[in-house]
Amino acid sequence: MTVRVRFAPSPTGHLHVGNIFVALHNWLFARKEAGEFLLRFDDTDLQRSTAEFAEAIRRDLTWVGLAWDREVSQSQRIAVYDAAAERLKTSERLYPCYETAEELALKRQAQLQSGRAPVYDRAALALSAADRAKLEAEGRLPHWRFRLDLKEVRWIDMVRGPQHIDEASQSDPVLIREDGTYLYTLPSVVDDIDLGVTHVIRGADHVTNTGAQIQIYEALGGTVPRFGHLPLLKGKGGEELSKRIGSLSIGELRAAGIEPLALASYLARLGTGDPMKPVHSWAELVPEHNLGKLGAASPHFDREELAQINARLLHETEFKEVASRIAAGGVDERLWNAVRGNLQKLADIEQWARICQGEILTRTDDVDLTRIAAAELPPEPWNDETWKNWTGAITSATGKKGKALFQPLRQALTGLDHGPEMRLLLPLIGRARASARLLRGKG
Ligand code: GLU
Repeated sequence: MTVRVRFAPSPTGHLHVGNIFVALHNWLFARKEAGEFLLRFDDTDLQRSTAEFAEAIRRDLTWVGLAWDREVSQSQRIAVYDAAAERLKTSERLYPCYETAEELALKRQAQLQSGRAPVYDRAALALSAADRAKLEAEGRLPHWRFRLDLKEVRWIDMVRGPQHIDEASQSDPVLIREDGTYLYTLPSVVDDIDLGVTHVIRGADHVTNTGAQIQIYEALGGTVPRFGHLPLLKGKGGEELSKRIGSLSIGELRAAGIEPLALASYLARLGTGDPMKPVHSWAELVPEHNLGKLGAASPHFDREELAQINARLLHETEFKEVASRIAAGGVDERLWNAVRGNLQKLADIEQWARICQGEILTRTDDVDLTRIAAAELPPEPWNDETWKNWTGAITSATGKKGKALFQPLRQALTGLDHGPEMRLLLPLIGRARASARLLRGKG
């Protein structure tokens, strides 16, 4: 049996880290089991789903590195759902209801006031054919509910362990709206059966749905897949992530210079208890993947921690891994090795390339010192020893040493207070630039 999982976003908005958390766990599960990863667009809500969002989702998944083996869109599969709905109607598991939203709200209110659970009372089941004909003659259109078997449904969740939902405490779910459109519940099950999905890995917001869905799989004669309900991510302070979706969209992370592998390293281990550190290839993440390492508790997504993983990843990255992505011309392995430990994001390399190879404005507050320093510059060729010998000579000439010497020299040569080791930078800057910056504050 081929393991097959699916990531099923609704193309009604952009992906955020919570979605990628779900997609990534599906992808890793599939890769580890040598299975297939499907992308399914849950786009039965034609009002809110757009082709642009679908395209943005494809782009974001591709950027992260989560390639899918097959893509389907629910909007293209309505006939399949219609056939399934017909079967459920024939077996009397799907029944028409005529209450308006207001009537249902009043019923719920009355139930709550008398201390009862606000569960649908199944009044529509008692309607005769004549009653229904009368309601329809009045212009009422039915919505359709799935008749639950009022028993406890159990499953062993791959993330949460043994679960049970007492369906007697649940309302018969509406599967088809008055206008004939499908809610998510039925199409998802029909697709899972039809596409041979073996493991449903999704957010914990679907735990309660699972009881009804298991009954729908059974009612349609399908094999019930295994379920894994991932905890929903929270913000650093425990707040709902959805409130901050904008700032945590994949587009924003990409624009901020987060590397796909940094995001994958972080999200794959978030909430697992495994040590947080960057990986340099996807192959490292696959064998360690295990949904059982997660629990029901919500991991806290910390943007700062992600930024640190990103920086660490870059600090450990070999030049050949990034050479093709470096826009600034002339960055070679030597420059990369000298400055990579100071990068927060790859684009920071441009600043260091400019400092080593371009024109910059620098600061020379201590003009006497920098004049002497310029005079003491040895002839080229320079190497990693040059800095030590040169600053030694300046100390002999001025008596200055330590921070009082190094800080003004760093400022005069780089324009910055901090950065990579000067012994590595100096030979990259070269004598002509160093001299001009020390004497004129630019070059
Ligand atoms: N479209 C649903 C969601 O994004 C899919 C849930 C599922 O995976 O079954 O929540």
